[in-house]
Amino acid sequence: MIVLKSSTELDRMRRSGRMVAEVLELLKQKIQPGVTTLELDRLAEEQCKKWKVRPAFKGYGGFPFTICASPNDRVVHGFPDQRPLQEGEILSIDFGLVCDGYFGDSAFTAPVGPVSPGVQGLLDVTKQSLADGIAAAQPGAHLSDVSHAIQATAESAGFGVVREFVGHGIGSNLHEDPQIPNYGTPGRGPRLKPGMTLAIEPMINMGTPAVSVLDDGWTAVTTDGRLSAHFEHTIAITEQGPEILTRL
Ligand code: MG
Ligand code: MG
Repeated sequence: MIVLKSSTELDRMRRSGRMVAEVLELLKQKIQPGVTTLELDRLAEEQCKKWKVRPAFKGYGGFPFTICASPNDRVVHGFPDQRPLQEGEILSIDFGLVCDGYFGDSAFTAPVGPVSPGVQGLLDVTKQSLADGIAAAQPGAHLSDVSHAIQATAESAGFGVVREFVGHGIGSNLHEDPQIPNYGTPGRGPRLKPGMTLAIEPMINMGTPAVSVLDDGWTAVTTDGRLSAHFEHTIAITEQGPEILTRL
């Protein structure tokens, strides 16, 4: 069942969404060669403590950290660690929090210093596929119109769309109905209605779509060892169209 949010609930989600965006902006500015993802994790945790809000992922299904940090061939759900980032790498950071009972969830992939044009292309196309998915999230549209828009953008650039992980409804739970695949035929699934709140999150591989999970039980990696990017926003469907909640 897809829960429709009241205007009071939407206001709470705007607040938590904005906090998520502030934390991610803070982390983005710290990304440079020599920094460790564990340092970024601590920064995110400190900010949550300062605001007296709870990070969404820590303890979720046993996940042990505040952020997911997934460099290079890591797709999603990577563990922060003490390895210094190196110039030319990429890093995906996923972060969520809950404030007054409502969740926000967002992710981005950033270069560590300068990267090659091909690598920058993967980041640009993944970000664009999210923008195109959000643009398709109009009231009255079908859910799979969002999925199709993401897939079309990513595959027309020659990249692989990850199948194993999907976007999701979000609200008083981190994961609610519906599931939102990043691929599909348009015109299928439920129609989007004002009051729906969705976390849309394409995971796009430079090579094939195939992923595997490491022995830690969490970290998803590309099976071919090539790079992967991840962008996510929490949005609300409104009468006027999609509203991005996780941005400054
Ligand atoms: Mg996320
Ligand atoms: Mg999510």
